[in-house]
Order: sequence, then structure tokens, then C-alpha cells
Amino acid sequence: GKIILGDQLLERSDVLIDLEDRGYQFGDGVYEVIRVYGGKLFTMKEHIDRLFQSAKKIKLDISMSPEQIQDLVESLLKENGVNFGSVYMQVTRGAAPRNHKFPLPASNTKAVFTAYTNEVPRPQSQLENGVEAITAEDIRWLRCDIKSLNLLPNVLAKQEAADSGCFEAILHRNGIVTEGSSSNAYIVKNNEVMTHPADNLILNGITRQVLATLCKDNSIPFVEKEFEVHDLLHADEVFITSTTSEVMPVIKLDGRAVGNGVPGEITRKLQSLFEAKINQETKV
Ligand code: PMP
Repeated sequence: GKIILGDQLLERSDVLIDLEDRGYQFGDGVYEVIRVYGGKLFTMKEHIDRLFQSAKKIKLDISMSPEQIQDLVESLLKENGVNFGSVYMQVTRGAAPRNHKFPLPASNTKAVFTAYTNEVPRPQSQLENGVEAITAEDIRWLRCDIKSLNLLPNVLAKQEAADSGCFEAILHRNGIVTEGSSSNAYIVKNNEVMTHPADNLILNGITRQVLATLCKDNSIPFVEKEFEVHDLLHADEVFITSTTSEVMPVIKLDGRAVGNGVPGEITRKLQSLFEAKINQETKV
């Protein structure tokens, strides 16, 4: 399939990325993943907005407009004929002789925008049966609100989960549960949904924001409040959310059953509300 480099659709094999691209050398860039359902982009505007917010927080000038990126991504999707899958896009601070400092304006270094598509089925059986997770220490930096390319702590946590045969690592900092290595984390206790406040310690997931609205519209208490590892391990229900995992039940934590060891009632309710939201947005 085709990919995007800058404002052009190209063959992947025709694209060269410079050895001194700052994304490659410093992780100096930001990214987004947008889900595609039946050929339609889900919450595209929100993802493109967040890309610009992340870029701004690292003083990176994307030098394209959100509308331009939207048009490019839509044409890429059409070109590649993606049905169920995702679009990955990233922006780096560009290629310049290696130096930690930003390239000088006079050097005319331009941000490098790239995007490509993937065909990925929805995780049906995991959504149905739930997944297992481990708990792990959150060793990331203090600006987790930025969707930056620096994912080494997330990679290490995810691998630790995989090594234990688990789907996700749910992270904690000073005893407080923050989020998953690539997801937001929630507990249900006494019919209340609780998740970490959207501050600098977590990424405010687009799925999380959709879920907050769905809860509000359906009179399900959605509480943004810190909770401890102990609360996680003794919750009635646990689930995680992300663009690719949607609303994913967690049925075991560190090898022990969560609640009854099956996806909980509130989690099921949120899954069906989320499903309706997907249908509403992508089947018009
Ligand atoms: N937190 C982290 C650390 C993530 O990597 C992700 C997935 N990108 C999320 C939360 C969930 O965000 P979203 O719902 O926007 O995919």
C-alpha cells in the first residue's frame, strides 16, 4: 500500500528516512493511532487535535494544518482500501546534524510527517472473554500527557506482561494506579467507574473521553480520582481502554481473579454503549 511523507502519497519502498531524523535519534516527535471501522475513521478530529496538542507541548511546528492532515489521511485510507484497521501517523522535528538543541530556524529543518495504514481485525474474542494483566511500577517521565515517540518504559512494561502471558501491564506510581502501558485503566466499585485524573501522569485517551461522555449520558458515575493498587486488586470489575483495545475487560491481575473472574456487568454495559457509538459514527 501507499504511505504519506509530507504532503505526498508514495510507495513505502520509495521512502527514505534520514539517519539523523530526530525522531529516530532522540524520539523527538509525537504520534497518533486512529481506528478504522468499515472503512470509516473513528474520532478522527479528536486524534488530529491531540496530535497538535502534543506537538505544541514539545514546541514542534507541524507546518501543516489539521484540515490538510485530515484530507491526506482520508485519501490514504481510500487509496489503500482499508476496511477494519488503523492509521498510524507521526511527526518528528526533522533531520539535522545530531545535536540535542533544536535545529536553528536558519537551517530550514522541516518537521517530517509520515502516516501509513494497517488492516487489523477487532479483538473480538478478547473483548468477549477478557484479558489478563500484571501490575508494574510506572517508571516513565512526568509528562505522560504528551503522546511522544519515547516509549521505552512502555515497551519494557508491555514485554514484562507478555513474558507472564498477559495482555497488559497496569502501572502504578507511589502506590497510585496511573494507566496501562498502552491503555487507560479503570476500576468499578459499588457501580462507580473510577479512573486516574487526566493530569500530567497519564495520557488522556480519546477512548477515555468517549467513555466519560457515554457514562454521563447514561447516568453511570464516572469518577476521575486517584486510587491505589489495593483498590485495583479488590475492585468489583477492572477494564482498560484504548483505540485498538476498545473497552477491554481485565479478568485476572497478577494471576488472581478480578471479582468473579469474568467480565463484569458495568464493563459489559460500557462495551455495548461503545459499540453503539462506533455504529452511530461510522455507519452513516
Ligand atoms: N495511555 C497510553 C500510555 C497509551 O499509549 C494509550 C494508547 N495510545 C492510551 C492511554 C489510550 O489512548 P487512546 O484511547 O487515545 O488510544
